[in-house]
Amino acid sequence: TLHNELQELRGNIRVFCRVRPLLPEENSSSSLINVHEFCDDAGNQTIEVKKNSGSSPPYIFRFDKVFTEEETNRDVFKEIGQLVQSSLDGYNVCIFAYGQTGSGKTYTMLNANDGIIPATINHIFSWTKDLKERGWRYDVSCQFIEIYNETIADLLRDENKLLIASSNEDTVTNLKHEIRHNTETRETTITNVTTCSLTSEEAVDGLLKRASKLRATASTASNERSSRSHSIFIVHLSGRNLVTGESSKGVLNLVDLAGSERINTSQVVGERLRETQSINRSLSCLGDVIHALGSSDASKRHIPFRNSKLTYLLQYSLAGNSKTLMFVNISGNPGHTNETLNSLRFASKVN
Ligand code: ADP
Ligand code: MG
Repeated sequence: TLHNELQELRGNIRVFCRVRPLLPEENSSSSLINVHEFCDDAGNQTIEVKKNSGSSPPYIFRFDKVFTEEETNRDVFKEIGQLVQSSLDGYNVCIFAYGQTGSGKTYTMLNANDGIIPATINHIFSWTKDLKERGWRYDVSCQFIEIYNETIADLLRDENKLLIASSNEDTVTNLKHEIRHNTETRETTITNVTTCSLTSEEAVDGLLKRASKLRATASTASNERSSRSHSIFIVHLSGRNLVTGESSKGVLNLVDLAGSERINTSQVVGERLRETQSINRSLSCLGDVIHALGSSDASKRHIPFRNSKLTYLLQYSLAGNSKTLMFVNISGNPGHTNETLNSLRFASKVN
């Protein structure tokens, strides 16, 4: 029944909270908030945020798991490795990092060697090697894109090719990136996006460096662009078993979301206003979609995928044979208290 299906979906959505340590330049002695964790009866972990001002009671939030500031990227991957691995079994997996700028999203996703993206790539090589002994052969390929102002950019594009292309007007217009859904196979493609096949770890290393460089270049052009855009690392894993004839197709989406800090739209104009509105809209749309997917309430059955490019792109990965994990990244920095509370409220709403 539909009810059971929705109950099952709910089980496939989890929210983890991660607290980053204070940075050397942050003064911990003046900390106004206090984040700590303990396990409640339901096995959830709870976080308490104390505002030192006055005698107001602490704010309390529950998550499927809380990573304290002592826990490393390796600890994180130990916990999520199985989820990542299920994309080899044909599941569609989405992992999001949500939080204000400076809360540790990129560190969690992309930090050299131990971030979720590099760790995933390294593990895929050893997992597929193991599965080879049981007859499985995998094609693994990846794409790396950015959504900025509801427009897709290709983070793996070859800049040299692009230079040649820009001397020819016709070629430039062909580089438009459009999302295409195949309703029969439930597969999503993006037009004109570079796809790299994962053949060796060295090749992947070069590829991630290229992507980081492209993002960095973009950030000098328009200030802090990487925190004003969503970046999505997409891995396609298709396997077939030479012995049994079985096959599987999974997609893994690793998403570093735009900074969630609330910018008052009355204080900005022009391009910045459009940018702000587009971030606010797409983040709240993501929250609505995940909430609706996890809700057993039949009235929430309409899932508003089409309200943002991000959810539209990910619709087949979020619904159906899928697993979703959201990290809410926060810091104990007293100057961030209000944004931290906003992030925790957002995360408990989707939970
Ligand atoms: P965001 O991507 O959310 O803007 P970053 O990932 O860039 O934030 O993190 C901000 C700063 O904090 C960076 O200097 C980063 O290296 C550091 N940082 C974030 N999380 C951790 C962590 N768990 N351990 C150590 N340093 C961290
Ligand atoms: Mg970042």
